[in-house]
Amino acid sequence: MMIRQPKNMERRVLIANRGEIASRVAKACRELGHTAIGIFTDNEPQGTHLQFCDEWVYLEGNTNAETYLNVEKLVALAKEIKADGVHPGYGFLSENRDFANALSEAGITFIGPHVEAIRVMGDKATSKKLANEAGVPTVPGTDHAVPTVDEAVQIADKIGYPVLLKAVAGGGGRGMRACNNEAEVREQFDAVGREAAAAFNNGDLLVEKLIVNPRHIEVQILADKKGNTFHFFERECSVQRRHQKIIEEAPSPFIGSDEELRQRVCETAVKLAKAVEYDSAGTVEFIMGEDKQFYFLEMNTRIQVEHPITEEITGMDLIVCMIQAAFGDELGIPSQEFIRRSGHAIECRICAEDPITMLPAPGLVTGFETNFPQGTRFDHCLYKGLEVTPDFDPMVGKLVCKGIVRDVAVRKMNAALDGLFIEGLKTNLPLLKEIMTEKNFVDGHYSTAYIGEVAPQNNVKTDLDHIKLYTIIAGSEARRMGI
Ligand code: ADP
Ligand code: ADP
Ligand code: MG
Repeated sequence: MMIRQPKNMERRVLIANRGEIASRVAKACRELGHTAIGIFTDNEPQGTHLQFCDEWVYLEGNTNAETYLNVEKLVALAKEIKADGVHPGYGFLSENRDFANALSEAGITFIGPHVEAIRVMGDKATSKKLANEAGVPTVPGTDHAVPTVDEAVQIADKIGYPVLLKAVAGGGGRGMRACNNEAEVREQFDAVGREAAAAFNNGDLLVEKLIVNPRHIEVQILADKKGNTFHFFERECSVQRRHQKIIEEAPSPFIGSDEELRQRVCETAVKLAKAVEYDSAGTVEFIMGEDKQFYFLEMNTRIQVEHPITEEITGMDLIVCMIQAAFGDELGIPSQEFIRRSGHAIECRICAEDPITMLPAPGLVTGFETNFPQGTRFDHCLYKGLEVTPDFDPMVGKLVCKGIVRDVAVRKMNAALDGLFIEGLKTNLPLLKEIMTEKNFVDGHYSTAYIGEVAPQNNVKTDLDHIKLYTIIAGSEARRMGI
C-alpha cells in the first residue's frame, strides 16, 4: 500500500528504521532532493518520522522479527516500491551483511559500507586481527576465539588480571564479563559463552585485558567510493551504564588540549578505515587507559546514535554525506584540512527508563513540551500519545547542546534539560540533570567507571517531576491567558 503520489525527485530512498533516526534520515533525503519513503507497521502504525517522509509504505507485522529485522520482506518491499537506495539507520539491519548483499543483488544501493567491511568489522575477532595486521594498537589478549577454559586461563595468566571475556559477536554493551582471577574465569567462561550463543547465535569468546578506569574515545570516519577517507575528530562516550552510552561529548575532555594525541588517535582511525577500504560513514572505537595509551575496540559500520555532536562541532551533515557517498556522488570535501572543528557539543540520550535503576520503563506519553535555550538541538520521536513499548529501544530522543567552550555547553545542557517536559512515564531526565551539576562531570573528570563509582543516580531528586508538572501547568495557564 502506498500513500501520497511520488514527487519527481532524484532518487527514491527507503528508510528501513523507525524513531528519531528515521526522521533524521528523511530530512537529509529531502534536503538532497531525494524521495524519502517511510515505513509503518501493525506494531507501530504511526510515528513522527512519517511526518518528514514523502511517501509511506505499510510493512505487515506485529514484531520486529516480522518487520524491521526481516531481510526478505524488506528487500521485497524495496523492490516493490522501486527504491534506488535503502538507509538502515542504526540497530536493526544496519550491520547485517545478508541485507546489504541482498539489496545489492537486487540492484539497490545499501546506504552503508561494502559488504566485506561489514563482515570483517562485524566480528570482534576478525576486526582485531585486521587492526593488528594494519599496525593499529589493540587491547592485549587474543584476536581469535578461545576454544577452552584452560586456554582462557593461560592467556589471562600471560596478560595479567583483571581480564574481560567478550563475545566476538557481541554488541549493544552485551556479552561481556570482567574476571579478577582464575577462579572467576573458570566460573564464568561457559556461562558467558552460552549467553552469547543465545543472544548472538555465536558463542565464541575473546579474552582481553580489562583496562581499568578507561575512557571510551571514538573517531567519526567518512569515506567515499573514490578512495577518499576523512576523520571528523573524536567523541568521548565514557558516561555509560551496562557498557552502553548515556552522555557523549566532542571534543574529548580527557584528550583536552593534547593536539598531538588527538591527531594520533584520529590518524590511527583513518589507517584502520583505509585497511578495510571503508566507503561510508563509520566509527572507530578506542579504549584509552589512564596513561593515555589507546587501543582499538571495534568499528561500527553504520551511523551512530551520537553523530549529532560531531555535526555540531564540524558543521557537516554526516547523513547527507553518507547518502552522497553511497550513490557515488561528490562529497565536496577537498581535503582533511577542510574539516575543522570549533566549540564543544554534548549529547544526552533521553530514555524512557527509571532514573535510579536505569532500567527501561515503558508507558504512554501524556504530555510533551519543549522550551529550549539557544544552541539546542533535539532529535526525537516524541509526541503526546506516543506509547513507548518494550519492543523498541527505550531511547526516545537526543538532546544536543553546543557552546563555545565545554563549560558553556554544560550550562546550556542544564537549561535545556529544564526545558524538556515529558509526562506520563519515567525518564532519565532527573539523572541527567543530576550529572550536569555533579562536580566530577562538570570538571570533565570521569571514566567508564563513573556511574558505578560516583553513582550520581543515588542523588537523583525524584520530586523534580512535580516541579516540572507545575511548570507545565503554569505554562499552559499562561498560554490560555495569551501571555
Ligand atoms: P552507538 O554505538 O550508535 O552509540 P549503541 O551501541 O547503543 O549506539 O547501538 C545503537 C543501537 O543499536 C541501540 O539502539 C542498540 O540497542 C542497538 N544495538 C547495537 N548492537 C546491537 C546488537 N548486537 N543487538 C541488538 N541491538 C543492538
Ligand atoms: P559493544 O559492541 O557492545 O559496543 P565494545 O567493545 O565497543 O562493545 O565495548 C563497549 C564498552 O565496554 C566500552 O565502551 C567500554 O566501556 C567497555 N569495554 C570494552 N572492552 C573493554 C576493555 N578491554 N577494558 C575495559 N572496558 C572495556
Ligand atoms: Mg561499541
